[in-house]
Amino acid sequence: MKVRFWGVRGSIPVPGSHTARYGGNSSCVEVTHGDAVLMLDAGTGARDLGRDLFSRSTREIDVLFTHFHMDHVFGFPFFGPVYAPGYQVRVNVPAFSAGEARERLARYSNGVYHPVRLREMPADLSFTAVQPGRAFERGPFRITAVRLNHPGGSVGYRIEAGESVFVYITDTAPLAAPGEGAAAGQPPNKLEQALLAAMQDADLVVFDTMFSFDEYLEKMTWGHSYPEYAVELCKVADVKHLVLFHHAPDASDDELDEQAAQWTPHREPLVTLAREGDVLDLEG
Ligand SMILES: [Zn+2]
Ligand SMILES: [Zn+2]
Repeated sequence: MKVRFWGVRGSIPVPGSHTARYGGNSSCVEVTHGDAVLMLDAGTGARDLGRDLFSRSTREIDVLFTHFHMDHVFGFPFFGPVYAPGYQVRVNVPAFSAGEARERLARYSNGVYHPVRLREMPADLSFTAVQPGRAFERGPFRITAVRLNHPGGSVGYRIEAGESVFVYITDTAPLAAPGEGAAAGQPPNKLEQALLAAMQDADLVVFDTMFSFDEYLEKMTWGHSYPEYAVELCKVADVKHLVLFHHAPDASDDELDEQAAQWTPHREPLVTLAREGDVLDLEG
């Protein structure tokens, strides 16, 4: 399995000279195994991924949405394959039914917020409802969603293929208050137990760490985590490599360099920062 970052930013895209090195596009992560492709979220990074896909032979893409905040959806109607006849785009959405899954995206691509309606897109689009805890298969990938802690709801994904395990956890606040739960060496609550099970023995975990701990204390209901929480959960779940993700829009390249300098000496897990364009080979 290979993981490539097309957008690593949270909340809003922030192009500019101060974000050029880590990248300004909002959440979009590609997972491949052989020719098979998953796209996790469709933030503004989805546009470049769509262009890249036209240079490959695959005509089938699965999109997995964590939730429908704009920073994760905005790139969908700019994702080239949806306009290409002969492409199959299967859209997987946390929802109760396939109809509801479709409706959630149709509210955005409705002729008002975007000029092209879903039904006018020439690709073969299909919709599936994803339910936390219920595993499903897409090509070579075995996928399980897990419920997160975010306003309006969000899910993370455990993805297994070949010998490797990749876990994508965004957007979420910690599932336990400071001083409680697994990160504090206390028994995890039910939600945190499910998250730890999803992360168990992963080769790579991408985790929303948009806040510092102090910012989290000021914005506990906003639905984002901080690096110390992600690191502690990864230790409990025996994760090999943690990638800090969903960088704050205000975080400049220099500030992210400082964060990287703080965390990259860490071992067990190895900790790095997501950077647009980076490719991580889980078998390598
Ligand atoms: Zn977000
Ligand atoms: Zn969100």
